[in-house]
Amino acid sequence: MKNKKLMVAKLLDSVGVLRGIMPRDGLSVLCYHRVAASEETIESCAYDSGVYSCTSDIFKAQIAWLKNNTNILSLDGLLKLLRGELAEKGPYSLITFDDAYQDVYSVAYPLLKQIHAPSILFAPSKLVEEGRLGWWDMVAFILKQAKRKRFDYDGEKFDLTDNITPAMRYFLSRFKQMPYHSCVNIMGELAALCEVDLAGHRAHAAELMTWDQIAEVARNNFAIGSHTHTHRVLTTITPEEQRETTSP
Ligand SMILES: [Zn+2]
Repeated sequence: MKNKKLMVAKLLDSVGVLRGIMPRDGLSVLCYHRVAASEETIESCAYDSGVYSCTSDIFKAQIAWLKNNTNILSLDGLLKLLRGELAEKGPYSLITFDDAYQDVYSVAYPLLKQIHAPSILFAPSKLVEEGRLGWWDMVAFILKQAKRKRFDYDGEKFDLTDNITPAMRYFLSRFKQMPYHSCVNIMGELAALCEVDLAGHRAHAAELMTWDQIAEVARNNFAIGSHTHTHRVLTTITPEEQRETTSP
């Protein structure tokens, strides 16, 4: 199994550590990104497989455990707890999802619905609007599709023949650490170096939830929160851009 998060989740699940790490009282916030239909989904993912939090089996077991052992809070419940107005006793848990991936709708949502568990979805509105994946997924996509496996970039040598991980780490850290404006062209440069035609590929939007699906889950026990408009790393953009991407 290649995916480290999945391995950790399996380990936690198999030894029941979830029980051990949950505080007896207080609030635990679980932050999920993608929930895979199966392990094969993760292995065959064309994008960043590191974004998967777990498989549906593990997710189902985790939320069942939370339901039986904690008070799963809705956004209203959380606000009441913070105001000291919540009558129900702890321990409390909060189930959250970042990025609005399609499998939150197709895999996680039906399982949460079955047990009437509330959750919060944090959606990056511009990416949903444009059906565009984040830079981490696009870097992974280019590296996985690369027709040319060996190339130099900014004095570094890369060989994707057996393993894309070092290249993935290098490009993700550039996006996280460098001013956004100096990274704007990296995606195009990388695609050209790897001989991947980004313009010819139209499947990215299918990885994200649509506004209709977000509206549906919002009617069914999901609260919708902001995940910024553009999902840029806030430390890499100007204060003005920070205000713009975080304002309602
Ligand atoms: Zn995110």
